[in-house]
Amino acid sequence: MKPAEEFKTKREFNNKFPTKMYKCTKCGQLLTNPYYCPYCKTQSNNFIYESYRYKIIETGEAEIIFPPIERNFCGGWRRGG
Ligand SMILES: [Zn+2]
Repeated sequence: MKPAEEFKTKREFNNKFPTKMYKCTKCGQLLTNPYYCPYCKTQSNNFIYESYRYKIIETGEAEIIFPPIERNFCGGWRRGG
């Protein structure tokens, strides 16, 4: 499991992931819900399929969600993708 990525504020998080689209790590469907995939009924915090963890320092908010799709484009998530 990767360590949580830290952001100073929620705004910083939103700036990095502006589309608010997430990709199910099990079936690959694009989702607007970062916590639950209705296609394969998988939750983001299942610990079987790798999820994306982040923490907002300002609020102490810590979440386990499906990876935002921007992760695929910035090279941080998939090799060669
Ligand atoms: Zn799915």
